[in-house]
Amino acid sequence: MTKPLKEPIYVSQPSLPNLNRVITGLGDLWESYILTNSGKKHRELERLISKKLKVDYCSLFCNGTLALQTAIHILGLEGEVITTPFTFAATPHVLTISGITPVFCDIEPETCNIDPFKIEELITEKTTGILPVHTYGNPCDVITIDEYRNKGLKILYDAAPCFGVERNEIGIGNFGDLSIFSFHATKVFNTFEGGCIVTNDKELKKKIDLFKNFGYSSPEKVVCPGINGKMNEFQAIIGIENLRIFDIEIEKRKLLFKHYEEQLSLIEGIRIIKTFKTVKYNYAYLPIVIDEKKFGVNRNKLYKKLKDNNVFTRKYFYPLCSNYICYKELPSADHKNLKNANWIADRVLCLPLYSNLSENVIDYICEIINSLRK
Ligand SMILES: *Cc1c(COP(=O)(O)O)cnc(C)c1O
Repeated sequence: MTKPLKEPIYVSQPSLPNLNRVITGLGDLWESYILTNSGKKHRELERLISKKLKVDYCSLFCNGTLALQTAIHILGLEGEVITTPFTFAATPHVLTISGITPVFCDIEPETCNIDPFKIEELITEKTTGILPVHTYGNPCDVITIDEYRNKGLKILYDAAPCFGVERNEIGIGNFGDLSIFSFHATKVFNTFEGGCIVTNDKELKKKIDLFKNFGYSSPEKVVCPGINGKMNEFQAIIGIENLRIFDIEIEKRKLLFKHYEEQLSLIEGIRIIKTFKTVKYNYAYLPIVIDEKKFGVNRNKLYKKLKDNNVFTRKYFYPLCSNYICYKELPSADHKNLKNANWIADRVLCLPLYSNLSENVIDYICEIINSLRK
């Protein structure tokens, strides 16, 4: 067995832009004294991101969670909203904080995304919308889900980890009524903290921009209630510079993903979450599912073994949101209705994946996994 690593390896490492370019950008701020309130950098990044994501409009936010909360408000969601329990805490929390009851729907075990055919039976007269997540940056069945719009439901996609993902060359932000993205440090594209809402609807874009700036339509006119959701000029500079290196970062991730794939496919009892030929991925995560019966040991033992060898993986998304103390009493949180989600949450593990990772470290990780096999 190879010797333990000297430095710990974490599940992700943020992409950092060229520091000199960032400093040059900061120089512009020092000259202009404009630090926020839809300044030059903010407007430039909105243009660049709309182009990159192949959508008409982008509204930048200080983080993905406030973008999500704003989108919920703008779409007028209330009552009950159907969502997945297999997600980050922010997804059900923003619903609850907006006075909406999250209704958990089971997932497809292959993709870990919401099962579009189980949505129908959860619809009641209180249902106003669906909040699916493109889990791990893997697009949901957007075609089937978008058909629920015909039933008068609003579709809001939590595309937080999905920056740059396309389906049949269509940017993933073009589906549903609105989509939100996160630019948190741990995401493939970051502004340290940040996020956006994208849409092709000019009226919605206007409403979003009013809401994120206290409802100000001009310096002496406030037309609606609103919050402070604005992205500042510093974040926008980081975004502009990180966007320059984005394609290169994804290309590196892709090669590393393939390297993992080659080795993991040889190990019985381990599978990578399903991917599709029609999708252009951003390789945000490397989620594997461990089948104890075939592999010989369970997920928690593998997690511990890797940790003992200085490799820090994450059990995204364990625990399931439906098992949080604040949600487990909901009728839809019943394990009987969420069999796949509970099954996956107990068996999934995200392995380290980021552009600076080396193939040697991947070999090392796969070697440890292989050594556990019984
Ligand atoms: C990261 C993430 C969020 C939250 O975004 P922040 O920018 O951290 O507020 C929401 N939903 C999902 C699925 C995420 O992965």
